[in-house]
Formats: sequence, C-alpha cells, structure tokens
Amino acid sequence: MCDCLFCKIIAGEIPSEVVYEDEQVTAFRDINPVAPTHILIIPNKHIASINELTPEDESLVGHLFAAAKDLAKQEGIAESGYRLIINVGPHGGQEIYHLHLHLIGGHKMRHPMG
Ligand code: 5GP
Ligand code: ZN
Repeated sequence: MCDCLFCKIIAGEIPSEVVYEDEQVTAFRDINPVAPTHILIIPNKHIASINELTPEDESLVGHLFAAAKDLAKQEGIAESGYRLIINVGPHGGQEIYHLHLHLIGGHKMRHPMG
C-alpha cells in the first residue's frame, strides 16, 4: 500500500473536491486555497517530484499542463490569467512528495512569486 496522501485522495480513501479526472491525471481543490481558484493537478501514477521524472513520463507531464489549461477555462480564469507552479524539494517549498501542479487564479497575483 502506498502511504502517500495524494495516492489516498486518488483512491478515494481521503475525501477531496475532485474537479477533473481521467486515466492519467486527477485534479482537486487545494484544502488551503491561496486564491479564489486553487486546484492541484496530479498524475495518477505516484511520482515523488520533478526530480524523479523519467523519459517515459514526458507525455504525462504534457498532459498535466493540458489539463491545467482546460481547467483554467472551466474556472473562467483563462482570459484574466493565472499561475502554474510546481514546487520541488525543501528549498522549493514542496510539502507533499507526490508531483503536483498548482493552478492558481481568480485575483491579481502579488510579486514576488507566491
Ligand atoms: P506543496 O507545498 O507540496 O507544493 O503543496 C501541497 C499542497 O497540498 C498545499 O497547497 C496544501 O494546502 C495542499 N494539501 C495538503 N493536504 C491536503 C489535503 O488533505 N487535501 C487537499 N485537497 N489539499 C491538501
Ligand atoms: Zn502518491
């Protein structure tokens, strides 16, 4: 059994507000949103971080971004704009070691990043 929070969310063992899922990715609302729209898009396959990507994962990563684009439109923020963020490792601020793409929007982002 995978002892990973996001694997448990994919398996439905931990409740979440899923907004999109297909055979490759799952997207759900962040439990602690930093903006009106804050969605996490994750591969269904457990990949700990960008550091663990292999060449076979390249199309999967492309699919993560394609899902982000579609979800931005679905959320009505495609034209106003948004941020896509992947945190990697301790200095990157990664807290959950299952690769995830943050889709953040719905208000004007402050600078610097975050
Ligand atoms: P990271 O810092 O690893 O890039 O982002 C992890 C994100 O996961 C955070 O924004 C945090 O709010 C979110 N998160 C942590 N635990 C849960 C949970 O149980 N459910 C949901 N939906 N989001 C979570
Ligand atoms: Zn996982």
